Amino acid sequence: MSQKKWGDEDFWGLGYEYDPQWLLTDKQKELQAKIIDLARTTLRDNAVESDKKLIFPRKNFEAISKLGLLGLLVPKELGGMGENHTAAAMAVETIARYGCASTAMCYTMHLGAVAAALFRHHNNPTLRDILSRLDKDVLIGTLSYSDPETGSHFWYPVSSGAEKTAKGWHVRKKASWTTSGGFADWYIIQTTSPEFNGNYGDLTCWLIMGNEAKAEPSKWDGLGLRGNQSGTLEVDVDLTPDRMVGPKGDGAASNDECVDPFFLLCSSACWNGISLGMIDIAKRHTTMKKHVDVGMRVADYPTIQDYVGEAIIDTNTSRAMVFQMAKAMDVATNNCDWSIHKDLSVLPRAKTLHWMWQVKFSAAKNVAHVTDKMLHACGGTGYKPGLGIERYLRDGKAGWVMGPTNEVLRQFVGKSALLGFESLDYWNQAINERVLNNELKKLDAAGKRKLAEKLMAEAQGKAAE
Ligand SMILES: Cc1cc2nc3c(=O)[nH]c(=O)nc-3n(C[C@H](O)[C@H](O)[C@H](O)COP(=O)(O)OP(=O)(O)OC[C@H]3O[C@@H](n4cnc5c(N)ncnc54)[C@H](O)[C@@H]3O)c2cc1C
Repeated sequence: MSQKKWGDEDFWGLGYEYDPQWLLTDKQKELQAKIIDLARTTLRDNAVESDKKLIFPRKNFEAISKLGLLGLLVPKELGGMGENHTAAAMAVETIARYGCASTAMCYTMHLGAVAAALFRHHNNPTLRDILSRLDKDVLIGTLSYSDPETGSHFWYPVSSGAEKTAKGWHVRKKASWTTSGGFADWYIIQTTSPEFNGNYGDLTCWLIMGNEAKAEPSKWDGLGLRGNQSGTLEVDVDLTPDRMVGPKGDGAASNDECVDPFFLLCSSACWNGISLGMIDIAKRHTTMKKHVDVGMRVADYPTIQDYVGEAIIDTNTSRAMVFQMAKAMDVATNNCDWSIHKDLSVLPRAKTLHWMWQVKFSAAKNVAHVTDKMLHACGGTGYKPGLGIERYLRDGKAGWVMGPTNEVLRQFVGKSALLGFESLDYWNQAINERVLNNELKKLDAAGKRKLAEKLMAEAQGKAAE
């Protein structure tokens, strides 16, 4: 196994012996080494600046575009690298681990937007044009989904809508969080479909250009991932017909086939990258720091060895799951061949969605634990910004709360396992007869009559509409 390098020197953290290198092709390993070197020369220093001053990592995007990373997933005939899910997970993990977690998360959102665009680019010259210029013109994409009214239920865009106009569409959206908000060059957003009839499951995706979105970057602040600029966004714009991404009503398919799988895969790779970055720093610090009284380094204490051992085992368990699902999606999509989606009904990734929920849950849970333990291993020195432990710890806290939150995910998994997938009822449409009947039992005769009258009036009102 080759030695992991940091410039001319050996890398100071964990070597390749604890990385699942056998999962990568030679080309992917070469790309990984290039990203590590770019992290050393550029990304890592910019991470400190981004965190301190809430600076969007555009400089890092310019740097990674030189490696072709913005077009990582774009087919070769459109000028991209034509890479697969495994490469996407590797690239995000590597950027987060050795370089900058904020950049890794903005890059995750970029890859999600690229996937949503590639999913429906076949007959759309505007999307094809953007996808063919991602690296050359450093065109950063992102996803804007979360709605102020529905919080982390980002699949439920209440404050949005679209109407047909003489020249195309009018689209309105309010988003409470948008990574790269105000800094991205293009956005994929989701609204309820034109001719909305009250069914929030009927969603449509749109391409919005940077100058059409109103953001308020000066208001962004957060505990970690501070370079992300994940602020609010507002769209109220007339669009030409080509800006609809996919057919009307394609939103749920786009979510299940592209936005969710890529977000869950790559954000999990980001959380694993943060965990590994912390373990690397802890290795360097604890093997250097000495206690003169006992003649021991911190790393010589079995307690510290146990912390590091457990952190590596747990993180590699999570990585194994990320890469297993990346591989599963590579196999299911003929190695991320986007031409399979010329047939609009082909949705192979969507079949693995409940596995992707588990991937995100475990990576986000693990990063919270590992970041705490690596802080403990480094002691008070880790508490100060100098080591970088403190920044990674704050960055890692975003994992659990980013939608779909870990509370929601474990419920999705448990509920679907126990009661079936239809019980999830994303769009609040199925009636829970058990709850309804149980509540009705509590009403006395007068209460029942009053309720019946109200329901009759409502039903007649509806019928008269
Ligand atoms: C750094 C960062 C970047 C982000 N970037 C983006 C982005 O680029 N695009 C985007 O669209 N969004 C983004 N988000 C938003 C994110 O996905 C969530 O929508 C957001 O964190 C929700 O915050 P909230 O305060 O509304 O939480 P709430 O939804 O109000 O949640 C509060 C609590 O209720 C729990 N809860 C919610 N629903 C349920 C339920 N059904 N069952 C049990 N518990 C529940 C939650 O788990 C949480 O514990 C980002 C968030 C962060 C932190």
